[in-house]
Amino acid sequence: MSSEVTMESDGLYGNGLFLGAEERDGALEVYATPQAKEAPESLWFCFRLKFKSKRSRKIRLVLKHFQNSLGGFPVEAVNPVARVAGGRWERLQNGRSLPLGDGRCDAVWETMASSSIEFAFCFPYGFPELKSLLEGAGGYLKKDVVGVSPEGRELVRISNNYGSTDSKMPGLYLMARQHAGETTGSWAMHGFLKRLAELKAEGLSVWAIPLSNIDGIEKGFYGKDNFPMDLNRAWGPCPMRYETNVFQRDVARWAERVEPSLAIDFHSPGGSESDGVYCFLPVDECGSADPESSEWSRSFEEALKPDFAAASFGRVANYPSRWDHPYAHFEKYMNKVYKIPTLSFEFPYSQIRGRVLNAEDYVAIGSRMAEAVLKRLKA
Ligand SMILES: [Zn+2]
Repeated sequence: MSSEVTMESDGLYGNGLFLGAEERDGALEVYATPQAKEAPESLWFCFRLKFKSKRSRKIRLVLKHFQNSLGGFPVEAVNPVARVAGGRWERLQNGRSLPLGDGRCDAVWETMASSSIEFAFCFPYGFPELKSLLEGAGGYLKKDVVGVSPEGRELVRISNNYGSTDSKMPGLYLMARQHAGETTGSWAMHGFLKRLAELKAEGLSVWAIPLSNIDGIEKGFYGKDNFPMDLNRAWGPCPMRYETNVFQRDVARWAERVEPSLAIDFHSPGGSESDGVYCFLPVDECGSADPESSEWSRSFEEALKPDFAAASFGRVANYPSRWDHPYAHFEKYMNKVYKIPTLSFEFPYSQIRGRVLNAEDYVAIGSRMAEAVLKRLKA
């Protein structure tokens, strides 16, 4: 029966291991699992299934070993996306947990398909989506290549203007996808930049790195704590990733040409987190949140209430880190070196309090964040 199904997982963003298939309980049950790919964590997957038979039928995707993913359970709050040939990425229904005798648990989703179907953990985001952002921005946004990745891919920076060495314009520096699979961060950044372009916002300079871990992104890495060094733990006096080195130099250029005012990092949280958008704040030696960053956090919280903001919005990270000082997060680096408020945002992968999010919702979230920035800078 397994020859009835083949998996392609070596394409763009591809990640997935095929473990078999069988006809069962009125559906074609396909067994697969995400791969860790050079990291101590797994979550992201993206693959295409091709079926020998062309008839439409129920496909039951069973993700084995999903209990090893970063926060993937409970899958009842997880809605991966699927796309049939020529169609759009659409959310699947809530997942179902399938307990095994020894305490492990598989994750199950069902959908209909005929000759082929693609699955991904969340809406993919890469160069094609970035291209459409630029095309829709009517010349407001510029694309520059600030370097090439270790594997030769473009390290792209988007900006609305370059500032100038005598400028006192407030400057924002935005970062996304230090963890390659965290596509919700990209969608929110997309909404942020799109809104600035729609408003043709002036009087601020925004520089943004939309696809920082581009090698990991295109190779389908989840990228959380990925080897040889997590991009978001490689910032510091001697950056431990080449990409981070390139971005630090770009940040230094930016700081010469604007009045550094705010830095934002766009991430995704654990796989099933669904209490809403929230952000981490930089802390001082005593563990207290930076006051200026906290003020910005309150502005964003207001803008994202009541539908998108988590009840606990501005947070201090207290989870254990695999990486030691002096190598640091982007958020700590920007706050300590440039002494500016810095926020590290988390945008849920699937749901907020039971509401399943579409790509447009992330764009709306980013749009509201952009409006909050303009409002606060004007005040
Ligand atoms: Zn992250």
